[in-house]
Amino acid sequence: MKFVDEFREAGVIAKASAEIRRLAGPHRHYRFMEVCGGHTHAIYRFGLKDVLPPNIELIHGPGCPVCVLPMGRIDDGLSIAQDSGVTFAAFGDMMRVPGTRGSPLEHKARGMDVRIVYSPLDALKIAQKNPEKHVLFFAIGFETTAPSTALTLIRARSLGVRNFSVFCNHVTIIPAIRAILDSPGMRIDAFIGPGHVSTVIGCRPYEWVAKNERKPIVVAGFEPLDILQAIIMLLRQLNSGDARVENQYARVVPWEGNRAALKAMAEVFELRPFFEWRGMGFISQSALKIKSSYAEWDAEQRFHVPGVRVTDPKAAQCGEVLKGALKPLQCKLFGKECTPEHPIGALMVSSEGSCAAYYNYEHRKSDLTTAGVPV
Ligand code: SF4
Repeated sequence: MKFVDEFREAGVIAKASAEIRRLAGPHRHYRFMEVCGGHTHAIYRFGLKDVLPPNIELIHGPGCPVCVLPMGRIDDGLSIAQDSGVTFAAFGDMMRVPGTRGSPLEHKARGMDVRIVYSPLDALKIAQKNPEKHVLFFAIGFETTAPSTALTLIRARSLGVRNFSVFCNHVTIIPAIRAILDSPGMRIDAFIGPGHVSTVIGCRPYEWVAKNERKPIVVAGFEPLDILQAIIMLLRQLNSGDARVENQYARVVPWEGNRAALKAMAEVFELRPFFEWRGMGFISQSALKIKSSYAEWDAEQRFHVPGVRVTDPKAAQCGEVLKGALKPLQCKLFGKECTPEHPIGALMVSSEGSCAAYYNYEHRKSDLTTAGVPV
């Protein structure tokens, strides 16, 4: 297949759906976790649950980087910018994420110099053009975005740009999968593996999931047919008693990953002993910190970091939704106090957040249906 439309063609989707129904049969219940927030978004956007039989349950995983960031880290980044008068630069999906004293956009409205950038290199360029300012890039993301931060730091050092630093919040996917598997009461039959992260790390790091935990994992792309095909591959494995890593997204994901990206990450980052994940607590070796050889460009080594720890509002059930223990609709605040217009938790902010995806597609669809609008 060459074109996106071919991955969305109704006849092909109907065939895949029929094959899933045949493989799933009527007797067994299957619980598949899609690790990546991009998959959660695609599942709701394309209404894939409507073409699956009821005995296939999709559980949303922790693969939305904005959603797993604890509120204290947002407060810390904004405090550095406020206290030291530096320019705060971040990706657009960070801008409406609430901290205890407001989101970055609300800080901008109160006078802070806040910039939306499309890449860390854009933040570096702002620093180069404004040598009188210090620009702090608030870095988030899994291994998907960490290489671009690493390459930017390498560039900043080679160009000698000293009015630029990174507040590093990059996290790694494997310890998060481990934490989910270790969660008491968590029953997952298999994983739809993250497509974007795997373009960098490849498929080999998941082999322990299949070998030691006996859970099949299929790395998948983001088109409807990709996800349905991954489900077919998982069902085939489960029905034959297999547990292997398979790569449905081979047109993009190399089995061994992207060596150049991994090399850049190894040059700049090392593992933190512990890092807090929103709703999941502290997970060992689950995040990256900047090596001391790049200390001059590390905001945590250059500025005072308050080290704020904030617990989510009591009624918010972001943690349970993040771990897949609850569906978005089961949170008491969903669609009432917490909406995309007035988010309480980060899962309602990012387009990859399961609450926002559910609200924007499923919830609005049921609103329209109730109002008699064809959807
Ligand atoms: S509805 Fe809001 S508060 Fe509840 S889990 Fe989702 S983001 Fe968190």
